[in-house]
Amino acid sequence: MKRDYYEVLGVGKGATQEEIKRAYRRLARQYHPDVNSGDRAAADKFKEINEAYQVLSNEEKRSAYDRFGHAAFDQRSGGGAGNWGQDFDPFGDFTGFGDIFDMFFGTGSRTTRRGRRQAQRTKGSDISLEVTLDFEEAAFGVEKEVRFERDEICPECGGIGGSSKKSCPHCGGSGEVRHTQTSFFGSIVTARPCTYCGGRGWIPSDTCSTCRGTGKVRKKQNLKVKIPAGVDTGYRLRVNGEGEASPNGGPPGDLYLYLKVKPHPVLKRKGRDLWCEFELSYPQLVLGDEVEVPTLTGSEMVRVPPGTESESVLRLKGRGLPDPQTGARGDQLIKLRLSVPRRLSAEHRELLEKLWEIERSSSSGKGEATGRRGNGNGTIFGRLKEAFTHPEG
Ligand SMILES: [Zn+2]
Ligand SMILES: [Zn+2]
Repeated sequence: MKRDYYEVLGVGKGATQEEIKRAYRRLARQYHPDVNSGDRAAADKFKEINEAYQVLSNEEKRSAYDRFGHAAFDQRSGGGAGNWGQDFDPFGDFTGFGDIFDMFFGTGSRTTRRGRRQAQRTKGSDISLEVTLDFEEAAFGVEKEVRFERDEICPECGGIGGSSKKSCPHCGGSGEVRHTQTSFFGSIVTARPCTYCGGRGWIPSDTCSTCRGTGKVRKKQNLKVKIPAGVDTGYRLRVNGEGEASPNGGPPGDLYLYLKVKPHPVLKRKGRDLWCEFELSYPQLVLGDEVEVPTLTGSEMVRVPPGTESESVLRLKGRGLPDPQTGARGDQLIKLRLSVPRRLSAEHRELLEKLWEIERSSSSGKGEATGRRGNGNGTIFGRLKEAFTHPEG
């Protein structure tokens, strides 16, 4: 017959969470297996304390227990209030108690059986590679072959490092070395992974000639990796499970590709948008023109409307780069600047002087002598516009 959980922790039915926690800590210290090594009764008591605490420290479980008693956690009863008992293993799940053990025994001293097994199976190390892409490869996506070396499980010995295993003579096969300390709480046993066998509890009986006992071999890899369109310098891609082999039978690490993208000769990238700049002459801006613009997919004729000011920006919607995750495209932006000639031919000079004269006489009295707007009535540009026939009108 199971004891009442409140009785086990020595608290009243109305105990607060703080009181329950305090009671649990006190009892856990007293009955912890490391303090009472080999004491079967203490181990059972410890198990009972943990079980009670698991339930009473959780408000949901506690209220179910208050209503249904132990039946609430009995799988065979069909679980009147749900089957919380299912995963319950006081020696397996220490997430709730970690603080206490860290406090009294120092980290790395969790001596639960499952905890130790988990510590033995670590994930292999990750591998980082830098991959350089051409601008077009990054813009359109590419399947890139990457070459690297990694540790793999030795095919000769299957990772053992020899033809068979034998128990580690240093730790007697337990995988950990224990130290006993005398303290306020009694003698406390701290356990650390055995360095001789790496915590595995066994060592190879002989030395594998292929891996020289390490259980791993270095292998060259050629791996094809799909790189999505739109990536940029600074992006990191993870390829699951292509890293180093685990040192102890766990899953392999991952491969990380750090991308570097070469710049485009003309187009400048800002996020998903592409920018380019053009210098146009004054008549081109004033009268409008067509310019040949380099784009991702070749070059394209783009219309500059009449009366375009310097520093204006034309936008080609959806002609930028895709977002590698969503595929949403940016735009291409074309910045137009006025180009001011440094040298003038005699003809240029003559025309410009004439233009200036006209501008001056037409704007006399307004105190403004620039033809900036260009489409003003009566200016030379107004008339020039009529004289020129523009392909797009
Ligand atoms: Zn050992
Ligand atoms: Zn081997």
